[in-house]
Amino acid sequence: MTDLWFETDKCLIAGRWIAAESGRTLALENPSDGTEIARIAAGGAPDIDAAVGAARTSLRGDWGQTPAAGRGRVLTRLGQLVAENADRLARIEAADVGKPLTQAKADALALARYCEFYGGAADKVMGETIPYLDGYTVYTLREPHGVTGHIVPWNYPMQIIGRSVGAALAMGNACVLKPAEEACLTALAFADLAMQAGLPAGALNVVPGLGAEAGAALAGHPGVNHVSFTGSVATGAAVQAAAAANVVPVTLELGGKSPQLVFDDADIDAALPFLVNAGIQNAGQTCSASSRILVQRGVYDQVVARMAERYQQLVAAPADQDRDLGPLISARQKGIVEGFLTKGENLEVAARGNISDEAPDGGHYVAPMLFAGVPPDHPLARDEIFGPVQVVIPFDGEAEALAIANGTDYGLVASIWTRDGARQMRLAKALHSGQVFINNYGAGGGVELPFGGTGKSGHGREKGFEALYGFSTLKTVAALHG
Ligand code: NAD
Repeated sequence: MTDLWFETDKCLIAGRWIAAESGRTLALENPSDGTEIARIAAGGAPDIDAAVGAARTSLRGDWGQTPAAGRGRVLTRLGQLVAENADRLARIEAADVGKPLTQAKADALALARYCEFYGGAADKVMGETIPYLDGYTVYTLREPHGVTGHIVPWNYPMQIIGRSVGAALAMGNACVLKPAEEACLTALAFADLAMQAGLPAGALNVVPGLGAEAGAALAGHPGVNHVSFTGSVATGAAVQAAAAANVVPVTLELGGKSPQLVFDDADIDAALPFLVNAGIQNAGQTCSASSRILVQRGVYDQVVARMAERYQQLVAAPADQDRDLGPLISARQKGIVEGFLTKGENLEVAARGNISDEAPDGGHYVAPMLFAGVPPDHPLARDEIFGPVQVVIPFDGEAEALAIANGTDYGLVASIWTRDGARQMRLAKALHSGQVFINNYGAGGGVELPFGGTGKSGHGREKGFEALYGFSTLKTVAALHG
């Protein structure tokens, strides 16, 4: 690839690009055609140890002494650099993740926006004064945790780095970032741009590598003061257990089975693009993908028919052709999705999308699939698939819709399509979900909107101003002065 201006096979530690101590590297695959695009460092425990040490040193030095407004200025400059480089970042992400160029560009601009948002917010996080006993003055201070670990998946590297590293830096933490072994080039590119923006050495360190090696070493490192993890439920639980041994707080963002509830009185024309796009964006490999569409019987046939019509036009193609969706990230992920499709063999197929004739054999393509009349307890209606597969489930009344919507282990995003204001308010309260959208669906968007789950979708909140509280700790100061 011509766009790779940085050293892809190195770690960034203390402001220097260095090879993994083991000397090993890993191949990075282009999911659109199966070719190798770069080699990345296979970081491990010694590299994580060095990165945590570098982060600690930066907190004792330049970065720890940078005032809030100064941190904000660095982040704002970084946001500008990301925006200026958005096209080449998008080309890198498209090749690495397999997502269509337009979606990759949107991710790059979201990363720029996170830097801008958290740059602007850095000097606006304030404590409180607390009325207390006579003769006292009591106030609170928001302080950084210290060294924060960030374990990031392959599906939205730029957006997830923006929302977690951006907020952590704004609060004055020093970060160690472990990108996913399947897609980690924009993490390295971002770190390079951060240095160009003037971020002091050691404030952001990047150690690529396998989850079981670099990831596990970071989650359990005794020098880490907070861990932010996005990925699967099983790995999230392991990360939480590792951090618990050091009594370290963890933010977990683990995916979902997010429903959209469509009532008879809904504006179907307005809903349709959201119903389909929220399912197939990034080939369904989105934690907040809407994989369950619950439809009231009065409009059920119409919604299924119109979604099916759209599905028949969908084309999966190489990322640089910028069609509706790209390939899945890996042969392994394709195998997982095909396993679900086998389980769905007895279900009603409402529509099947297309794979482009130009899709190379080495790519990991799956045709989008829409199933209808799916029982709510079927595995396709209950489990996270992480592929371009949606199920439509009919319901009669509001109580049944709510029971189905709340009937999985997850609770990340939900949306309600109805013109009935009272129903909107009732359901927004009753849905088990970290975010509820009314007459829209915000898959992946909303830098300003606090985001996170309930149940097995995880805990803690990233994005928005709220993230700044998660990436800081509160100190109470009580002065007795008489
Ligand atoms: P994963 O949870 O294994 O990987 C996510 C990150 O964790 C990667 O950086 C990985 O290297 C790291 N990791 C892996 N094992 C680790 C360990 N023991 N300790 C610390 N870090 C570790 O996810 P995956 O295998 O890439 O994908 C599997 C499933 O996870 C997907 O099918 C999907 O359901 C889910 N997923 C969810 C999201 C999301 O945004 N919520 C993102 C990616 C994957």
